[in-house]
Amino acid sequence: MGAAHLTIDLDAVAANWRALDAMSGEHTETGAVVKADGYGLDANRVARVLAAEGVRSFFVAQAEEGAEVRGAVGPEADIYVFSGHMAHDTDLLKASNLIPMLNAPEQVVRHFKEAPGRPFGVQLDTGMNRLGMERSDWDALRGELMEAGPRLVMSHLACADEPAHAMNHLQLQAFREMTDGVAHRRSFAATGGILLGPEYHFEVTRPGIGLYGGQPFADAAPVVRLSIPVIQTRMVRPFETVGYGNTWEATVETEVATISAGYADGLIRAIGPNARVFAGDTPCPVVGRVSMDLITVDVSHLGATPETLDILCPAQSVDDVADAAGTIGYEILTSLGPRYHRTYEGGA
Ligand SMILES: *Cc1c(COP(=O)(O)O)cnc(C)c1O
Repeated sequence: MGAAHLTIDLDAVAANWRALDAMSGEHTETGAVVKADGYGLDANRVARVLAAEGVRSFFVAQAEEGAEVRGAVGPEADIYVFSGHMAHDTDLLKASNLIPMLNAPEQVVRHFKEAPGRPFGVQLDTGMNRLGMERSDWDALRGELMEAGPRLVMSHLACADEPAHAMNHLQLQAFREMTDGVAHRRSFAATGGILLGPEYHFEVTRPGIGLYGGQPFADAAPVVRLSIPVIQTRMVRPFETVGYGNTWEATVETEVATISAGYADGLIRAIGPNARVFAGDTPCPVVGRVSMDLITVDVSHLGATPETLDILCPAQSVDDVADAAGTIGYEILTSLGPRYHRTYEGGA
């Protein structure tokens, strides 16, 4: 079989949620962010497992995603939509009973006109300048919004993965100035914010990446394993080259294995010269460029060539691979491609 094997441990997702829930504190509800198809790992499966674990609040980026997740978690759970109430979303929001986080005055107008009496939340901008109401809009609309009764008032941190960054406290101050005295539930912390400590937690936390085993949750249980079949091996002699562009040249006789995954599977080209794959605990350097469907690896030091080599495993996390490529674990996870043979472990 040429397809690489992606194993997703749903029990590890559940364990990571429990750990983040314990850190969120007993007076805080811990939700779960399952946008982008559950960070590429299957939003429905993840949401079902977490609903069984006790999660009552799910967060997605778009209404379409919310409709999918509604089918997985049943009618009771709250599903919040970060992009809010966009034009043409009304039918979907109503049909799937989704809660749009209203981000701007025009979304407030649209929601109250097209979905009067239906649930909503409010997203405030506290300095990230990406999504959420500006302070002046909030000041103008606050009375009307509070009377209608939002299910959640939230904002998002720009630098929570850097605990010492001054931005964290500045945003906390802004959020408190804008919302202290509000009689509705507040949410401020994603994974990084949970780790910043109790003053960042408020009533609801919204972890995403930590559930899936990524940084900044350093103690996360690993969730994914990716094993790639070896297609063939060959001896490459000194002065011979490997791969596109002849970027790697043998200096000594080298046994090179060609494995069956590449950048079309989300193993982006940028991992190239710094990446390694693993035979058990033994690292094997990638040599030459990553191709669309293939990666070439130096296996000279292995006694025997294994049938598969792992690129994601206990010895190498999504963040390690991300570091090799100069990106973040989030991007590696959400890029994992459709060609993998996927196996889900654990869950009900
Ligand atoms: C993606 C996202 C989250 C989850 O963030 P993680 O860093 O993955 O925990 C929470 N809130 C908002 C608004 C988001 O966009």
